[in-house]
Amino acid sequence: MKGSTHLTIGTVVGIGAALAYAGSLPHAALLITAASFSALAADLDGPSLLSSRLSPLSRFLRYAVPTAGALAVIGVLLYGVRYGFTPLPVFASVALLLAGLTAKEGFIRNALVSAVGTGLLYLAWRASSLGLCGLGAFVVIAPWLKHRGMTHTLWVLAAWTALGYQLELEWGYPGLMLASGAGYFSHLAADTLTPSGVKWFSPLLRKSFKLR
Ligand SMILES: [Zn+2]
Repeated sequence: MKGSTHLTIGTVVGIGAALAYAGSLPHAALLITAASFSALAADLDGPSLLSSRLSPLSRFLRYAVPTAGALAVIGVLLYGVRYGFTPLPVFASVALLLAGLTAKEGFIRNALVSAVGTGLLYLAWRASSLGLCGLGAFVVIAPWLKHRGMTHTLWVLAAWTALGYQLELEWGYPGLMLASGAGYFSHLAADTLTPSGVKWFSPLLRKSFKLR
């Protein structure tokens, strides 16, 4: 399934969560970012986003999104070192960079994604944030996993939802767990509609679930 499809579904999920929970514009932005990013995160394991049948737009996005993300991360870091870090800009800029990197392939891309994860781990350590720590670990490990393997299972969906719960507690934004869990679920559900399906219960059950 194409990354742009996952992104669209995730955004719709995020808007739903924002309508149900958001009390302010930044709150709504966080929920929409969380759901959209969650809908893409499972494919940090593989080069699937925008990689098939490149249209001129997606070819442009392949370079524009990671570049914009890298610039945003640098800006947020410079600002944060001077004035202190706040969750939303950190989260949004890292999400943008990672979303951009899911569009690329190969060792360099994996190493870059892992480097972003390592940066997140450092921030998590500085902020004593268990939730960010888990997110960082996911981002470090995911790119090296087999495509549609471990990240496409019920267990990782549960772990991702738990991360959302932890960040909801830490940051105090209601709906964050729901937006993250539903966003991630939407990815696995959408992949289940494709011919190769999803091994929801791997490695317990190797069966690939698919709907035609
Ligand atoms: Zn997938």
